[in-house]
Amino acid sequence: MSLVNAKELLFKATKEKYAVGAFNITSLVQMEAVIEAHVECKAPVIIQTSVAPTKLLGVNVLVAVYRTLAESAPIPICLHLDHCTDVAYCKKCADAGYTNIMIDASKQPFEANIQQTKEVAEYCHKIGNISVEGELGTVSGVEDQVRVVESESELCNPNQVLEFVERTGVDLLAPAIGTAHGIYKTKNPKIDFERFEKIFDLVNGQSLRVPLVVHGGTGLPRETVERLISLGGSKVNVSTELKHSMIDATYQYITDHRDEYDPGKIDSAVKDAVRKTVMNWIGWFGCTGKA
Ligand SMILES: [Zn+2]
Repeated sequence: MSLVNAKELLFKATKEKYAVGAFNITSLVQMEAVIEAHVECKAPVIIQTSVAPTKLLGVNVLVAVYRTLAESAPIPICLHLDHCTDVAYCKKCADAGYTNIMIDASKQPFEANIQQTKEVAEYCHKIGNISVEGELGTVSGVEDQVRVVESESELCNPNQVLEFVERTGVDLLAPAIGTAHGIYKTKNPKIDFERFEKIFDLVNGQSLRVPLVVHGGTGLPRETVERLISLGGSKVNVSTELKHSMIDATYQYITDHRDEYDPGKIDSAVKDAVRKTVMNWIGWFGCTGKA
């Protein structure tokens, strides 16, 4: 149906209190699985890639596949670049056809974060209908280019939020609130709900301006995800779980069919596994029928 940016999907989601999943893919098979699951549920979706697959597969290849699949799908689909720390590379992906760009300058000092985020936001708004996500505070764990050990991780300072939003012109904000990338070391990760609520009120209390993003979806309990959505989170990133689904399904298929040499069957097994994982998240996000 439509190639959209994230901002338009998330304004509607925030108002109606559901979330749109941003699913991290590394291959064509995963991209198809994520889209098929959303078509089946009539749900909007954000396909995201980190920087590594754009270098391995090529930015233009990823965009071409996205366009081909999105143009014929009966749902709105956004293509998002996740955690890019390089301003020039953000611009390159925007030029190529990504519809949402995350400039992650969260490891930089506050002023540098503002300048870099502002530069990407201005560029993306100038060249087209591309929305931009910024990060304040640092989400712990490992995410492609960005590595943060937990002791270094720091939460988003609510006192900086309004200045950041106003000076950068950013469209979406990812505040660090205690979620992490990778696998949580504890069953009940400590999430700072109060901080999240405060940040939402500061930015969007008067009128909705900048939807909030939750990073590190994998491993969060369902009640945590639902509570964050009820407090205003409208984009939830899921990466690690899809990687596990893909690798586990591949391993299982090969183990069960050791004498077979039919890659298409492995792809089918991966597609089924990823689609099931994604369908489960769609249920948690409450976005069924929202496309
Ligand atoms: Zn992230």
